[in-house]
Amino acid sequence: MESKSLHIHWFRRDLRLKDHRGLLLGSRSGRPVLSLFIFDRTILEQLDDPADRRVQFIWHQLNHMREQLESAGSALLVFHGHPSEVWKQVLERYPVGSVSVVRDYEPYARKRDRKVGELLNQYGIQLTGVKDQVIFEKSDVLSQAGEPYKVFTPYSKQWKQSLNSRDMAEATVPDGLFYRVEPAPFPSLESLGFRRETSGLADFPSSEIPEKIIRSYDQTREVPALEGTTRLGVHLRFGTLSIRTLVRYALRWNDIFLKELIWREFYQMVLWHHPESPDRAIKPAYDRIEWEENPDHFLAWCEGRTGYPMVDAGMRELNQTGFMHNRVRMITASFLTKHLMTDWRKGERYFAARLLDYEMASNVGGWQWAAGSGHDAAPWFRIFNPTLQQKRYDPEGHYIRTWIPEFGTSAYPEPIVEHKLARKRALSRYKKAVAETGS
Ligand code: FAD
Repeated sequence: MESKSLHIHWFRRDLRLKDHRGLLLGSRSGRPVLSLFIFDRTILEQLDDPADRRVQFIWHQLNHMREQLESAGSALLVFHGHPSEVWKQVLERYPVGSVSVVRDYEPYARKRDRKVGELLNQYGIQLTGVKDQVIFEKSDVLSQAGEPYKVFTPYSKQWKQSLNSRDMAEATVPDGLFYRVEPAPFPSLESLGFRRETSGLADFPSSEIPEKIIRSYDQTREVPALEGTTRLGVHLRFGTLSIRTLVRYALRWNDIFLKELIWREFYQMVLWHHPESPDRAIKPAYDRIEWEENPDHFLAWCEGRTGYPMVDAGMRELNQTGFMHNRVRMITASFLTKHLMTDWRKGERYFAARLLDYEMASNVGGWQWAAGSGHDAAPWFRIFNPTLQQKRYDPEGHYIRTWIPEFGTSAYPEPIVEHKLARKRALSRYKKAVAETGS
C-alpha cells in the first residue's frame, strides 16, 4: 500500500451512505474511503439506562451500514473509547492521508473536533468538516444588519429567500468509492455496557417519508391523539435521512411542515451562537428568577401524577415510548416552569435522558421557549392553562385516556397545585426578575 493512501470518513450523526456530503468530499480526495465510527465513552458514560433506545438505534443502523459496506467489499471500523485515543490507534494502523466529518454544532462536539483536529495536524493531516445535517448553518442566514436573527419569522423568510441549488444539491456518492479491506469486528451492545431490547430498525419509527401525513400536516399536526406528525425526528437527529431530501418534499407538499424544519435550523443556529445556552438563559435576566426546590412536585411531574391530565398523559407517553407530541411538549414544559416554578434546566435534562429524538439545539430551544428566556420565546406573562389546552387539543379525551387508564376514577390524583394560585405565583416571580429589572 502506498503511504498516505486512505481517506477516512468519521461518521457521527450522519449515519447513511446516500446523499452524503462527507462521503462526496472523500471521493474528491482521490483516495479510497474507509468508514469509521467511535462509540464515544464520554457520551455513553452519561447515559443511565442500560437499555437506552438511542444507543440501540445507532447500533442497529451501524450494523445495517456495515452490511452495505461489506457487500461493497469494504468495512466499517467501529471502536469504543475516547475519540482522541481511538484516533491515535487508527493513525498507527492505517495510512491516512485525509479525514472528513459532518459538522456538529453542539458544544461538546465542537470541543472534541477541535482536539481531534489538533491531533491530526500533528500527523500532517487536515480534518475537514462539511455542512450536511442542515441546509443553513452558523451565519449562513443573517439579518440585513449582518447579525444572527433573534426572531423566527424574519429568519424563516430569509432562510427561504436564501435557498439555492448549491445548498440543496443531492450529494451523490459515486460507486467504487470505498477502500477494499477485510470486514472489521463489530462490538456487541453488551460489550459497550448496554442491553439489547429491540430486534432491529423495524422497532423504531420508519425513515420512509410519509407523504400522506406531510400533505395534511397543517390539518393534523396539533392533535396529539392522531398520528398527524411524521416521527422523523430520530432520523434527522442521527442523519439516517438526508435533510435535503426532506426539504425537497416539504417544498412540494406543505409549507407548514417546511416551517417546522426551519425551526429546527433556527435552533441549530441559536445553539451555534450561544454554546452556553444549555446551561444559561439566553436572556440573562431570566437567570435571576427564583425557582422552587420541591422534589415531590418534580417527581410527580416526571411520573405523570400532577392531576392535570394533559401534562400527565404527555409525561407517561414520554416515559413509556420515548416520544411526546410537540403540543404536549409545550404544555408539559410550560407547566413545569410556570405552574411548578421549577428551573427549566431540570426539565430539559429529563427530556434529554428520555427522548428518542433528543436534539440538544431543539430541546434547549423548546425549553427556553417555554421558560420565556430564549430568542423568540413565549412571553413571560403568557401562562398556558392546561385544562383549556386539553379542551382545545384533545376535546374528546382520546389522548388522555390512551395514557391514563385510571382517568375519571378515584385512583387518578387531585391537582398538586391550583391553577389560579400557581399562575399568580409565576407572574410575581417572573415580574420581579424580568420586568422590574427593565429586561
Ligand atoms: P414533525 O412535526 O413531523 O416535524 C418534522 C421534523 O421537524 C421534526 O422531526 C423535527 O426535526 C423538526 N421540528 C418539528 N417541530 C419542531 C420545533 N418546534 N422545533 C425544532 N424542530 C422541529 N425536537 C427534537 O427534534 N428534539 C428534541 O429534543 C426536542 N425537544 C423539544 C422540547 C420542547 C420543550 C419542545 C416544546 C419542543 C421540542 N422539540 C424537539 C420540537 C418538536 O416537539 C419535535 O421536533 C417534534 O415533536 C418531533 O416529532 P415529529 O418527528 O413527529 O415532528
